[in-house]
Amino acid sequence: MKTNVKNIPYGRQNIIQDDIDQVISVLKSDFLTQGPAVPKFEKAIQNKVGANFSCATNSATSALHVSCLALGVQKNDLVWTSPNSFVASSNAAIYCGAMVDFVDIDPLTLNMCVETLQEKLENAKKINKLPKVVIPVHFGGLPVNMKRIFELSQEYKFKIIEDASHALGAFYTDPIDKSKYFVGSCTHSDITVFSFHPIKMITTAEGGMAITNDPELSRKLHLFRSHGITADKSFFHDRPEDEIWNYQQLELGYNYRMNDIQASLGISQLKRLDYFLERRRKIATNYNLAVKKLPVNTQLYTDSSSYHLYCIIINELLTSKDQKSLFKHLYSNHISANLHYIPIYLQPYYRKLGFKAGYCPNSESYYKGCVSLPIFPQLSTLEFDHVINTLKSFFE
Ligand SMILES: *Cc1c(COP(=O)(O)O)cnc(C)c1O
Repeated sequence: MKTNVKNIPYGRQNIIQDDIDQVISVLKSDFLTQGPAVPKFEKAIQNKVGANFSCATNSATSALHVSCLALGVQKNDLVWTSPNSFVASSNAAIYCGAMVDFVDIDPLTLNMCVETLQEKLENAKKINKLPKVVIPVHFGGLPVNMKRIFELSQEYKFKIIEDASHALGAFYTDPIDKSKYFVGSCTHSDITVFSFHPIKMITTAEGGMAITNDPELSRKLHLFRSHGITADKSFFHDRPEDEIWNYQQLELGYNYRMNDIQASLGISQLKRLDYFLERRRKIATNYNLAVKKLPVNTQLYTDSSSYHLYCIIINELLTSKDQKSLFKHLYSNHISANLHYIPIYLQPYYRKLGFKAGYCPNSESYYKGCVSLPIFPQLSTLEFDHVINTLKSFFE
């Protein structure tokens, strides 16, 4: 196909002059790190999602790690997550010495299947192998049914960390009383984690945040973020009256802090979150209409998703074409589609831990047919039409 469209990535950051000005103003200020921008950004995000406490970190991966530590995950504890996610969702628990297991996905939502989770919990209870923490992932920005998972957590006594790396701005509605909950409100979880990697909803270049409503968890998140050190004298251990130093290390923590340069970019980006959401939802709606006539399936459509990703899944019953040749066709037409995700447990590192192909059949059949199409706020109509025409020409 002849085209003058330049390469279209599957996702990319949106940076304007305001963002640049904010970053420059920090560079000219007194503090590059641990100044006023980080707490300001933390407050702005927690207000946006309606939660009480927040802890900004240098990545979502480190936010997931300090979340596991704050919940007391340690050697030989069990942590369950979704196989259809980025490896960080699972790695964070392994950093703490935990053993990880996976709950297969629902083929419609592509999120952890709540019924499968329930069955797995019933079986685990019989053999006394219940998880300490479950980490549901809001895949592509589509919210998990958190209320159901919360109910299971009450019954089976596990803690919940929501991996909402894709889902800043997404919300879910109670099917019965119609209450609306923003992902990150932590109404049905202990902690929620966001990512600010450039391809995510808003960016701080690298960065993440852990959100909670529990003051004690918040204190621990902050402790583990910065070396296990506190300056709060009420937590100091037997301190001589004439001690002049003003901090103590209470735990083995890390340097996972976000800096003020990153936070200033985040503050500026957050002002455009509603616009980003509107654009992403619009593009997803247009994709949905356009791919209806093609032999593909899609993730359950809902305007409460933040649409970090838009995935199509080749429908094997309707076409003999395959995923690899579609990727080739898209690439040769300058469309850098991507694949989200190879089930985590099929990665060589996880296979070494003993996981085998066939473990989560829904995740595996999904990944063998899925293709993530370009979706980001500034995707133009010209680019969108080019993607659709390229798809049509492939299936013709
Ligand atoms: C991006 C991502 C992460 C990790 O985010 P970083 O900020 O890059 O560490 C974790 N989980 C999921 C689901 C992600 O998509």
